[in-house]
Amino acid sequence: MHVYINSSLTPESEAKVSVFDHGFLYGDGVFETMRAYNGTVFMIEEHIQRLFRSASLIGLDIKRDKDSIKTTVYETISKNSLKDAYIRVTVSRGTGTVGLDPELCKEPTFIIIAEEFREYPAAYYQNGIKTIIAETKRNIKEAINPQIKSLNFLNNILAKVEAKKKDAYEALMLNAEGCLAEGTISNLFFVLSQKNKPVLRTPSVDCGILDGITRNIVLELAQKNSIKTKEGRFKKDDIYHASEVFITNTTMEIMPVCKVDEVSYQTGTITKLLHEAYKEKVRAYLQKSA
Ligand code: PLP
Repeated sequence: MHVYINSSLTPESEAKVSVFDHGFLYGDGVFETMRAYNGTVFMIEEHIQRLFRSASLIGLDIKRDKDSIKTTVYETISKNSLKDAYIRVTVSRGTGTVGLDPELCKEPTFIIIAEEFREYPAAYYQNGIKTIIAETKRNIKEAINPQIKSLNFLNNILAKVEAKKKDAYEALMLNAEGCLAEGTISNLFFVLSQKNKPVLRTPSVDCGILDGITRNIVLELAQKNSIKTKEGRFKKDDIYHASEVFITNTTMEIMPVCKVDEVSYQTGTITKLLHEAYKEKVRAYLQKSA
C-alpha cells in the first residue's frame, strides 16, 4: 500500500510521522472518512468542504485548495489500484517542539490513507446491531464542538469501550442535558409514531453532534418519500418506545439497530426503504460522475 504524506505517495513501510507531530502529541488536527464505490468517491466535495470547516474551527490552515485535495485523493486510490475503498484524509497541526501553541508548527501534516473497502457482515444489515446508551456523555459543544471532526477522539473511544464491555457494537451517547446525541462514529435515527403516523426522528444539530453527510441525505430521502421527519431533543425513553432504530455514517450507510440496552427492535420497513433509496442515490451519483 502507498500512503500520501505531505507531497508524495510513500510505501506503507516508510510512511511515518514525527514523534513531535502535534496530531500525535495533542490530538491537534482534523480528518475526514470517505468511501469510494467502483472508483468514485461518494460526496467528495461535501467531505472536503467539511474538512475545511473543521480546520477553520480550530484555526488550522490546510495550505492546499479543495481541487488539489480532490486530485490527491484520486491519485492515492489509483496508486493503490482500488475501486471500492475506505479513504481517510488527516490533517494535523504539523511538527513542532513540545507545547500547546499551534504556532510552534510551521506546516500542517497532510496524510491520505486509502485501502480496500471491507464490507460489513450481511447479518448486520439483515438483523441489526446491538447498541447501548453509554454512561460517557458527548463532549459539550462549548468545550470541543462535535461539529469539529477532530483527531481528539477520546470521548468517543471511552464510549466505545463501554459498548465493547457489554458486547455491543456501537455506543449511543447522551449530551450533558441528558438528550440523545449520536453514536461514537454515527448519527442516530428512530421511528416513533405520533397520532398513529410514523415520524422519523433524529437529534438536532444543536444537541451537540456531527452533522453527518449521510444524516443529511437520509433526511432528504425521507422527505422525498413522504416520511415525516423531526429533528429535535429526545430522551432515552423516546428511543426505548421506538418501532425502528438505525444509525448512519459514510461507510455503513444505513445500519439497522436490533437492540438499545435491553430493548429489542426488528429491522423495519422505513429503515429498509431508506436504505434502498440511499443505494439508489449512490448509483445515480456514480452515473453522473462517470
Ligand atoms: N458522528 C460521528 C461522531 C462520526 O464520527 C461520524 C462519522 O464518522 C458520523 C456522525 C457520521 O458522519 P458521516 O455521515 O458524514 O460519515
